[in-house]
Amino acid sequence: MDSVSGTCALCKKDLSPQEVAQRTITGSVCEECLYHVGAQSGMPLRDFLDGLGVPVLVVDSDVVVTMANKPLLALLGKNFSKVRGQRGGDVFECAYARLQGGCGRTVHCSGCAIRLAVTETFTTGRSLRGVQAYLNRDAVTQFLQLGMVISTEKAWGLVLLRIDYIGTQPKPPQAEVRPTPA
Ligand SMILES: [Zn+2]
Repeated sequence: MDSVSGTCALCKKDLSPQEVAQRTITGSVCEECLYHVGAQSGMPLRDFLDGLGVPVLVVDSDVVVTMANKPLLALLGKNFSKVRGQRGGDVFECAYARLQGGCGRTVHCSGCAIRLAVTETFTTGRSLRGVQAYLNRDAVTQFLQLGMVISTEKAWGLVLLRIDYIGTQPKPPQAEVRPTPA
């Protein structure tokens, strides 16, 4: 899918290998074009995100949603007005987001792979790819667990969060009791 070299999809300029490696989500776009997209000069940010064709959220360092593209909204079956300004846990209906303090403020949140990935990318600028995450939609039974695979990339001082996979992940069965050998 990604090659080591390439040209910018928007201005056709040659891309450095570093740019290609960094753009896990935005793809073959040079630094300059990416800046213009963020500044809404030339291609509007929303059109650019929709054009990625895969579910992408734009979040701040606290995983508060500032933008979501059409594939993401279709995946969730929600309007943008329902997700704007919400934290990731609210958007994906994490059970812990309903506890006091909300998403990112409960004792369960320190191990959240989604939050950790966003924090790492925001802090270091490093893109992450194929991070495994789990989300409990029912805190009591933990039966409504969703498995997710996400990728991140820093752009425009924010973090792009791509949903590579989301699906029901039934609670793993109890370890099998092996028959005692005769
Ligand atoms: Zn360009």
